[in-house]
Parts: sequence; structure tokens; C-alpha cells
Amino acid sequence: MTATQSNPAYPQPRETPTNAPMLAAWREGMLALQECDVCGHVFFYPRSVCPNCWDPSLTWITSDGRGRIVSFSRIHRGLPEAFADEAPIVLAEIAVTEGALMLARIICDDAEAIQSALPVRLLSKPEAARYPLPTFTLD
Ligand SMILES: [Zn+2]
Repeated sequence: MTATQSNPAYPQPRETPTNAPMLAAWREGMLALQECDVCGHVFFYPRSVCPNCWDPSLTWITSDGRGRIVSFSRIHRGLPEAFADEAPIVLAEIAVTEGALMLARIICDDAEAIQSALPVRLLSKPEAARYPLPTFTLD
């Protein structure tokens, strides 16, 4: 498999009207976030109302794709079969530049190198196409 082909073995997200803009942006290698028109809260994952003030007036914005690791977990066992050959995988809480906190996978050659506060960036487009959801790497 080349880095530009999506991995059909990975669990795929179910597209809905709420998450479709985010999934479409990711297919182009970009991270789309939602910003509340009332309180300015920026968040991920996609929702139909702001999780801060419950207002439905939301605008999609494009992240610069950069952030920092808040916390993380290296997962060695109990992974779905599609990920078993890639263990350990790293899932992290990431604070992106725009202020949203999100959970995402971090792709790196050495999972032991992951530490809190390290800068990360969104995978670039050719490699990003392999993953069904926004995925990061060390910056
Ligand atoms: Zn709000």
C-alpha cells in the first residue's frame, strides 16, 4: 500500500449532515473546526449546537493544522484488527492553534518520543489520505 491510498481496513466514519464539511475538508488534507457565532468558542468534533452556549449559529473555519499535545496514550494491546500491525499507536488530546481541544492519532516512527507539550502538525495531504479522520505528526 502506498501512502496515498486510504486504508479500507480502518473503521470508517459515518458521514452525517453535521460532520460532512469536516470530512470533506479532511479529504483535502485540511482540518475544519466550528466556531460559535455567539460566544466565539471553537471546537471539535462537529456538532449542531455550540457545546459552550448551546446556540446553533456556527461557522466552519479552517485550522492552520498546528497544535500541542496536552496528553496522550500509547496503545499496545486491545486494538481493532485493522490497527494491530501498527501497535503501539498514539492517541492524543491536542490543543490546536485556534483553541479547540481534540482527540486524534499521532503518526510517528518512535512512539516513545511522544511527550506532553510537544508541537504537532496535521499530516500533509498525500499521507493524510491514508487516514479516515484528522491525523497529526510531530512538528
Ligand atoms: Zn457558543
